[in-house]
Amino acid sequence: MQTLHASKCGLSTAQLPSYILDVIDSLTRAGYEAYIVGGGVRDLMLGLNPKDFDAVTNATPSQVKEVFGRRCRIIGRRFELAHVYSGRELVEVATFRAPPKKAVTSASGMILRDNNWGTIEQDFSRRDFSINAMYYQPHKAVVLDFCDAISDIKKKTLRLLGEPLLRFEEDPVRMLRTLRFAAKLNFNIDPSILDIFTEEMTQLLRDVSPHRLYDESQKLFTMGHLYRVLPMLIEFGIWKQLFADIPPQLSAFIDRAAQNTDQRIQVGKTINPAFFYAVLLWEPFLQRVEFYQNKGVVPAEARAQAGLDVLKRQATRTIIPRFAETFIREVWEMQSRLLNPKPQQIEALSGHARFRAGFDFLLLREKSGDNTTQGMGSWWDAYQNMGYDEKEKAISAYNRQRAKTRRKAADTDNAKNNVNAPVHAEVAQIEPLVKETPVRNRRSRKPRTNNDPASLADNFRSRDNSRADTPKAAAGIDHDHPILKRKRVQRDLTQVVFGPTQ
Ligand code: ATP
Ligand code: MG
Repeated sequence: MQTLHASKCGLSTAQLPSYILDVIDSLTRAGYEAYIVGGGVRDLMLGLNPKDFDAVTNATPSQVKEVFGRRCRIIGRRFELAHVYSGRELVEVATFRAPPKKAVTSASGMILRDNNWGTIEQDFSRRDFSINAMYYQPHKAVVLDFCDAISDIKKKTLRLLGEPLLRFEEDPVRMLRTLRFAAKLNFNIDPSILDIFTEEMTQLLRDVSPHRLYDESQKLFTMGHLYRVLPMLIEFGIWKQLFADIPPQLSAFIDRAAQNTDQRIQVGKTINPAFFYAVLLWEPFLQRVEFYQNKGVVPAEARAQAGLDVLKRQATRTIIPRFAETFIREVWEMQSRLLNPKPQQIEALSGHARFRAGFDFLLLREKSGDNTTQGMGSWWDAYQNMGYDEKEKAISAYNRQRAKTRRKAADTDNAKNNVNAPVHAEVAQIEPLVKETPVRNRRSRKPRTNNDPASLADNFRSRDNSRADTPKAAAGIDHDHPILKRKRVQRDLTQVVFGPTQ
């Protein structure tokens, strides 16, 4: 173990926010050892801006609770931690951990329970990478380095503590962390890791809960180096584990969206990780829409069912929370609205809660060479910067163009079928983008196939049951059918509050 002088490592208390100093101070005053550890120390040493600061102590979670009282909450079962509120911030305070006992690992060696308190030396060897295992005591102005992490910092090398094979088996998420830190810090991965980081090894991720994998995928999307990490995910076979149905290729659209995400983070803009999921799943979504349309399902219902299918498949790998799923489906649904808006709805649409995300998505598609957007990305871009009169003119011009295109399409149809195309009455009111699926009743659940028209009618019942072009009408389901009598939850989307990244 070497004791480094904080000042020689470029560290000073002036860099530290008061919330972490307060936590370290309070624990020290209560007679415990307390350090800042992990990404906070690492990033400061590398001259980066730490995302947060984690604390570690020899006090057990209940002793931490005694020190902080109501400001402290004990969380986690597999990995018990104290959450301490300091001002408006939350600090994770972990207790030194000893090696796990054999009895609490799975057959494949994965650690299932990990609440064995220990010493600082034991705690250090439990951490993943050397550069994440430096303990900084700000008041003593020292950094405790048990594994010559300082050399790895200088050499820009990511080195796992202990035997890499064993460390990946213990916790397969460390594979994702390897790629995340290599991309974020622009570090080399040590050869001892590369030797064992095979595609076969990535199969271990199958045992990790899809909830945890969603959290990790979010960290990958929001670390500011998404563009750099994506090819690495493919190269190491992690992509297949995270996104089963997304071909492991980086389309121009995905690339552009990744660059855009990184740029937004660089300039301090918020990003919603669900947006990037919407990008990744866009191709599988379009293919699924086509599948339903080829079966004769009307476009709106094909889109709705395809959205549900694609998200359901993705949930086998990463469980996207419900609010994020709704966001994704809304962004997709916005694409058709923005592509072919009813002239009376244009202004209202531009003020819709999901307009911004839908428009960004459309523009990214367009700028990455997707000409199916028919230039509407640029149209909306220009529209938003117009004054009232200009907007009126733009809408009239759009309307004339639309009528022309429609006439042409109708003429072609007439020539083909010799029938008149149906004329829909236009309404200025905007319908909800996504119709939530009704809560399923276990007792009434019957096995159904995906293309069963009754199942479609169940999921996507239109408010207007009189429309003749829905599959339920096609299937001859009348208004008294029990499916139509089931209650469904209608959500007012303007009231939906999204997560902190929104
Ligand atoms: P960042 O917060 O910048 O993403 P970090 O290194 O702080 O990076 P956290 O997930 O906040 O990562 O974890 C804090 C510390 O806890 C890590 O630096 C590491 O020492 C330890 N740690 C976290 N996850 C693991 C893991 N899966 N295996 C071993 N140690 C881990
Ligand atoms: Mg951290």
